[in-house]
Amino acid sequence: MGFGRFFASSVGGGKMSDEKKFWAKIKKIPGGCWEWQGQTNEHGYGRETTKGKNKQAHRIAYELENGPIPNGMLVCHSCDNRKCVRVSHLWLGTCKDNSEDMVNKGRSGKGARNSRAKLTEAQVRRIFREKGKQTSPQVGSQYGVSPCAVLKIWKGVRWQHLKLLGNVSGVSGRS
Ligand SMILES: [Zn+2]
Repeated sequence: MGFGRFFASSVGGGKMSDEKKFWAKIKKIPGGCWEWQGQTNEHGYGRETTKGKNKQAHRIAYELENGPIPNGMLVCHSCDNRKCVRVSHLWLGTCKDNSEDMVNKGRSGKGARNSRAKLTEAQVRRIFREKGKQTSPQVGSQYGVSPCAVLKIWKGVRWQHLKLLGNVSGVSGRS
C-alpha cells in the first residue's frame, strides 16, 4: 500500500490521524475485499464525513491513494462489493462503464430502481439547477441517488418529459 506516499504529500493540511482513522474502519474479509465498517448510505456504499462533507468511503479511499477524482468520473468496484474500499479493487470509470458493468454483473434492475424512482419532479428540477454549482457525487448524496443519476439528469438523458434543457425544438425539427 502507498500510505507512506500519501502521508508524505498530505494535501490540504489534513491531519494524519484522519487517514489513520479511515483505514481503521475497514475489515479485511476472505476473498480479498476490505469492507468498510462505518456508516453506509441507502445504496449500500460506505459513507464517511470528511472535512464536514459526506463522501462515499470508496471514493475517499481512491483519493487517498491517487489524488482527486476527475470531475464527472466514477469510482467503480471490480469486486462488486459496494462496501469495499480496497484501492486495488477500484477503478475509474464513466457512468456508461458503470452501467454496462452492472448489466454484465446482472445488477441492473436494482441499480435502475435505485437511481430513478425515488425522485419527485420537484427534486429533479432542483438537482438540475445545481448543475455547475456542485459535483454530481455531492448532489447525489444530498438526494440519495447515484452520481450517475445526477449526471443523467444534467445531460437530459432522464426525465426528458420535464424539458429541463429548455425548448430546443428547432434542433430536431424537420422542415
Ligand atoms: Zn473488493
